[in-house]
Amino acid sequence: MRLDFADERVLAVVAHPDDAELLCAGTLARAREDGAAIGVAVLCRGDKGQPPQPVPRLAAVRRGEMAAAARLLSAELFWGRIPDGTLADDRPARLRLTDIYRRFRPTLVLAHAPEDYHPDHRAASAVAEAASWFCASRGHKTRSPALSASPSLWWMDTLTMSGFEPGFYVDVSGFMAIKERMLACHRSQAARGAASDFSPVLELLRRQASTRGMQAGVAAAEAFRAQHAFKRTRAW
Ligand SMILES: [Zn+2]
Repeated sequence: MRLDFADERVLAVVAHPDDAELLCAGTLARAREDGAAIGVAVLCRGDKGQPPQPVPRLAAVRRGEMAAAARLLSAELFWGRIPDGTLADDRPARLRLTDIYRRFRPTLVLAHAPEDYHPDHRAASAVAEAASWFCASRGHKTRSPALSASPSLWWMDTLTMSGFEPGFYVDVSGFMAIKERMLACHRSQAARGAASDFSPVLELLRRQASTRGMQAGVAAAEAFRAQHAFKRTRAW
């Protein structure tokens, strides 16, 4: 059986620039090759991910890095513009992401898992889940009209796989090059690799993809779990 993303509209909802590269970019690239439309919504500005030598105007630098990565996928890019460390599942964040859903019209959303290690990721998970319901509710007004149906929702793996029990795996063996090229766009974060409080991100990406691949009997994989909730569950 082969999962086919043709005719899908796949939106990754992440907290920070570079999260999509680490956790789902292989799947996005594979979906793109199948003919899907791809979007990436980055909720935070990335303004606090400073390398040891601080980068002036870091949020603007990271906007440029993320735009370059999204171009490699021909992905439409959306920004939540929320300062790092302040993302919460509150009304402004829900409205902002609900309107992004209504503009991109996803059939499938990939979002951080509720058990993720990072507080911004956990908040992004809750906002992504809430908006997946409210985007199709006409009573919740935003600038864009309500969708006719909610997207299905998959939780993404956590960085280093800690605490995440996969529901299924997507074979990304043929898409590691673009995943790595996208990550390489985030030069400010690669510079954090030498810091004692951070990890070399390229090594993390490779080890995780090959470990998930080994679990699934392929060279490289990304792990997900479907959110089984009313109107967000699909049959294949
Ligand atoms: Zn992050």
